Amino acid sequence: MARRKVVAGNWKMNMTPSEAKALVETLKPLVESNDVDVIYCVPAIDIVPVVEAVKGTKVEVGAENMYIEEKGAFTGEISPNMLTDAGCKYVIIGHSERRQYFKEDDAFLNKKVLKAFEHGLVPILCCGETLEQREAGVTLDWINLQIKSDLQGVTKEQAASMIIAYEPIWAIGTGKTATSEQAQEVCCAIRKTVAGIFDTDTAEKIRIQYGGSVNAKTAPELFSMPDIDGGLVGGAALKPDFGQIVNYRN
Ligand code: PEP
Repeated sequence: MARRKVVAGNWKMNMTPSEAKALVETLKPLVESNDVDVIYCVPAIDIVPVVEAVKGTKVEVGAENMYIEEKGAFTGEISPNMLTDAGCKYVIIGHSERRQYFKEDDAFLNKKVLKAFEHGLVPILCCGETLEQREAGVTLDWINLQIKSDLQGVTKEQAASMIIAYEPIWAIGTGKTATSEQAQEVCCAIRKTVAGIFDTDTAEKIRIQYGGSVNAKTAPELFSMPDIDGGLVGGAALKPDFGQIVNYRN
């Protein structure tokens, strides 16, 4: 069975609650699609208003991060059960900005992945190499390592239901999109890694996105590659271009 494409917006630390509601209204007619799943991953404070604003559409809402405990003395954190109660279905885990600025390592991210599943949240697990790693020729080894560490203890049914986003760090927010061939090579390698950990059936089911300066121009070719099942979109997710990315086939 063919995998459904999935296009997710990562709003990062943008949009106040009132701006968020306005953006959802602007995008409403533009993101309608019967064959692409659309997700808005939004700042924690925007989750409730965005869940409300997307009612009546097919758009689902995700968080950009979460903590690994249900409640307690973790000032400033947000728990998985808070996310599900607010209407989130997805959560981004291990975005390179979290890894880089907040020092989240693979052992911690593995706990987050397991915790998300425990609460019925679908993880959008990010991985990706730096420019130095690409130039040193260690991209595939590095990503293999990230995926193996982050998926420890995950069942094959869980893996089949999740999303992995391949996001080369040198392409995020730089306007420098990876070529379709570069993105396909790594997404294909990720699928092989998943097949190695679980089996080919799981690898055929898991959805793998490309992320890194995706725009309305680059989306059609990227998303037509055999192992790229859609995109995780940063900057362009805040503009009407997002509608063109969702409807990249037209
Ligand atoms: C991202 O933040 O996940 C991302 C891919 O950003 P951008 O599209 O702006 O490069």
